[in-house]
Amino acid sequence: MSKYFEKKSEEQKETINSTENDINNINEATNIVKKRRKVVNDDGNDRKWEPPHWREHWANILAMRITNKHLEPRGCDTIGDTIADEKIRRLHVLVSLMLSSQTKDTMTIAAMDRLLERGFTVQYALDIDVDELAKIIYPVGFWRRKAQYIKDTCQILRDKYNDDIPNTIETLCALPGVGPKMAYLAMDFAWKSNQGIGVDVHVHRISHRLDWLPYDTKTPEQTRLALESWIPRDLWNQINHNLVRFGQTQCLPVRPRCSTCLNRNICPASTSKDTTKHLKQK
Ligand code: SF4
Repeated sequence: MSKYFEKKSEEQKETINSTENDINNINEATNIVKKRRKVVNDDGNDRKWEPPHWREHWANILAMRITNKHLEPRGCDTIGDTIADEKIRRLHVLVSLMLSSQTKDTMTIAAMDRLLERGFTVQYALDIDVDELAKIIYPVGFWRRKAQYIKDTCQILRDKYNDDIPNTIETLCALPGVGPKMAYLAMDFAWKSNQGIGVDVHVHRISHRLDWLPYDTKTPEQTRLALESWIPRDLWNQINHNLVRFGQTQCLPVRPRCSTCLNRNICPASTSKDTTKHLKQK
C-alpha cells in the first residue's frame, strides 16, 4: 500500500469548484494582493507587514499539537506502506486528495485502503466501471462525482502524462475535480516541491481568528495569497497540516477551546482572555 497524507475534516464546507472558477479566483486574488502591496509600498514603509505575535502563535500551535495528539483523527500518513514505484505513489497522493474533499479523514482513509487493496493504478481506473468505482469509494463526499473525476483524470494521465501526475499547479488544476488547495498539497507531498500554502476551511478560519491577514479575504485563494505575502517561504508547506490539526482539536469551528488554548491571551478572537495582571500580554 502507498503512503499518503493529511486529509480534510468533516467541518470542511468548500465546494468542488470547476477548473475555470479556480483559475478566475487565483487571478482575482493575485490582483487584490498586488493592489495591497502597492499601497504598503506607497506608505513609505518598506518593512514587510506581519501580524503581531505570529511567532508565538505558531510556536503555541506546534506545542498544542503535541499535547492534543491523542485527539487527532488518524492521519492518512500513518497507514500507508512505502511503494517502490514513485509514479504510483504520486497517483495515490492525488487520488487521496480528491477523495478527501468534504469527507471525514476516517472515511477517506478507508476508501483509499479499499482502492489500494485492489491495486489501484491508472489502468485499474480505466478498466473499472464508474458505478463500480463509486461503490468502492462510497461514502466519501460526492462519491458519484468523484468516481467520474477519478476516471476522467486517469484518462488524462494516460493520454498526456505517461500515467504520472503533472508537476505544475496549472496543470494539476486543469484535472477534473482538482482545485488549488489540492494542487499545492500534491506539489508538496507528491513532488516534494514547496509551491504555496494549501488553504482549506481550517486555515481560512484560523487565519482570520488570529488576525494573520493584512486585509479581509473572502475565499481560500485570497487567503493563500495574503498569507504568502508575509509567511516565510520555508514554512509554507507546514501551515496546512498543522492548522488543520489545530482546527480539529483546539480551534474548533464552533465553540473553540479558548480556555485551554496557549494563544488565549494573544488571540484577537479569544473568548477566554486571562485578565490577571501578571499574565497580561505586553
Ligand atoms: S484562543 Fe480560541 S480562537 Fe484563538 S486560537 Fe485559541 S482556540 Fe482559536
